[in-house]
Amino acid sequence: MKECPFCRENHGKSTMILENEYAISTAVDYFREGHCCVIIKKHKTSISQLEPEESIAVFDLISKTSKVLEIKYKATKTYMLVIGDQVEHLHFHLIPKHDTLCSMGIYCFGKLFETEGERHTSIERKEKLAQELRSLVKK
Ligand SMILES: [Zn+2]
Repeated sequence: MKECPFCRENHGKSTMILENEYAISTAVDYFREGHCCVIIKKHKTSISQLEPEESIAVFDLISKTSKVLEIKYKATKTYMLVIGDQVEHLHFHLIPKHDTLCSMGIYCFGKLFETEGERHTSIERKEKLAQELRSLVKK
């Protein structure tokens, strides 16, 4: 069995935005500026495997992370996608809807993968984003 990078990685506190008993949110800054992920703590590969209390806690983290992204980027909403083709460990991609991001709706993420993938941003950029987003929590 292939080793899971999300189980192996000790998600650094430096890029973490929020955490609860079941999940963390972290600055990724990969596909687009502001790109974050909510990653569940236990190794599961589908939303259907979440226990009810886990679902509530994970979605609470998704909501709170989206809130700070929308404040920081003056975004009208946050796009969310679950894929898991490259890393099966369940995680939720969050991208604030920037002014520069047209209303692609359902096509948004596909377009991002085609054109904006592999930004290879630095750990310093991720840490800076996480720090800014942490400062917006509870506002
Ligand atoms: Zn895993």
